[in-house]
Amino acid sequence: MLTQRGLLIYPEEVGPYWRDLLLDPGLNLVGIHPAGGVDAARSLERLLEFVQTPPFWDFAHRLTRAGFSLEYEMHAMSWLVPRDLLAARPDWFRMNRQGERVNDFNLCPSNPDALAVLGRRAAELASHLPGSSNRFFFWLDDVKDAACHCPRCRHLTPSDQALILTNQMLRGVRTMNPAAKMSYLAYQDTLPVPVNVTPDSGVFLEFAPIGRDSSRPIGDPGCPQNAREAAPIDALLSFFGKEDSQVLEYWIDNSRFCNWRRPLKRLNLDLAVLHADVRFCLEKGFSAATSFACFLGEDYANEFGPPPVQAYARALSQND
Ligand SMILES: [Zn+2]
Repeated sequence: MLTQRGLLIYPEEVGPYWRDLLLDPGLNLVGIHPAGGVDAARSLERLLEFVQTPPFWDFAHRLTRAGFSLEYEMHAMSWLVPRDLLAARPDWFRMNRQGERVNDFNLCPSNPDALAVLGRRAAELASHLPGSSNRFFFWLDDVKDAACHCPRCRHLTPSDQALILTNQMLRGVRTMNPAAKMSYLAYQDTLPVPVNVTPDSGVFLEFAPIGRDSSRPIGDPGCPQNAREAAPIDALLSFFGKEDSQVLEYWIDNSRFCNWRRPLKRLNLDLAVLHADVRFCLEKGFSAATSFACFLGEDYANEFGPPPVQAYARALSQND
């Protein structure tokens, strides 16, 4: 069985509704996921305020008492190294293909001062996340083609650059929590295995096949999208190791099925695909599996009835 089985919800939906749905014997992991995009820094700031309030404490205590791991998964780069530092320190930011330093996405991973700030801020962020397990998920920006093209970074692949930043964030967090681990998010441009950088001990693989076709099993070789997404899995697992390796899926991500736009639609959970996918995760040796569970809050339940969390949890708990 997968060691950890969970789902990711928005902080705005943290409360009794999700607490009761989550308290299913099949689940033991919850990730709080503030929205990304251009407002990622602001939504992370709001999360840091919310986690200091009694409604959040109640949610966190109830779930951790029931044996859940509480984690936080988010695009954190714009909070970690604030974008308004561009004028003072342009060299901290990435160089685009036109040779300009820009503060749109990510950083220059070859700049030692930028890395020092990144490590310090990652430690600060980790210290503000109450009840967290030792696994941290501070992702890069949620876009493609956002690598640095400066002379010192040019030879590094997007995966290399992501791993430099991931290693650095882990080093920072470990100054205050020596048991900390940090996820390397493999998806989009960072799906290929890094070439010129090796992971620090404590960096684990998180694989998110956002480009998959969810109507076919991920291991279906006859589905071109899924074959493409799944192709690097063996190499990734061998590079990062299987310990703590996690699949971050879209099985019950109703926001993806709604094309990230309202109105809400009814979620059609394809149990045959889900069972095949979980079997695939077990065969590959993944340790954990979780799924975004966005657009399934109380407004969803009012319109369509409760989301199929129980069936989802049962599928994740299968043994083979
Ligand atoms: Zn650079």
